[in-house]
Amino acid sequence: MEQTLSIIKPDAVAKNVVGKIIDRFESNNLRVAAIKKLCLTNEDAARFYAVHKERPFFNDLVKFMTSGAVVVLVLEGENAVAKNRELMGATNPKEAEKGTIRADFAESIDANAVHGSDSLENASIEIAFFFAKKEVA
Ligand code: ATP
Ligand code: MG
Repeated sequence: MEQTLSIIKPDAVAKNVVGKIIDRFESNNLRVAAIKKLCLTNEDAARFYAVHKERPFFNDLVKFMTSGAVVVLVLEGENAVAKNRELMGATNPKEAEKGTIRADFAESIDANAVHGSDSLENASIEIAFFFAKKEVA
């Protein structure tokens, strides 16, 4: 069993498709082990995406991630990290495979509906970023 972190980003929250996105996870054997809705501060978003701080899109990324509420989840299941990335689709929704979350719910590479941890190691760092141990059950 693996755990991974998912963020339903401000574009998808604003579109009111939180339930539809969670259904994709649950229908594919990923279980919601933790969930909360919150607004990221600039500091939160910059710290969360610190690996990208030298990239040209960093400021836009922080601005977007703080533009509205997000829903943060811990997903649990077999191969959860890879399975979540597969369900999400490519970073650019225009390149995302049909039937993926980004193909179906996202508009652009900036507003791309969801985040997912990209490795088991990052998953545990990202889960600890948002959740106390007792909140994951
Ligand atoms: P995420 O980390 O959000 O799950 P990802 O792992 O598919 O997405 P990353 O390379 O980690 O993609 O980039 C983080 C986020 O930065 C992307 O989700 C996207 O919103 C934004 N981003 C990435 N590349 C670009 C780009 N070339 N132009 C604009 N925004 C980008
Ligand atoms: Mg990433």
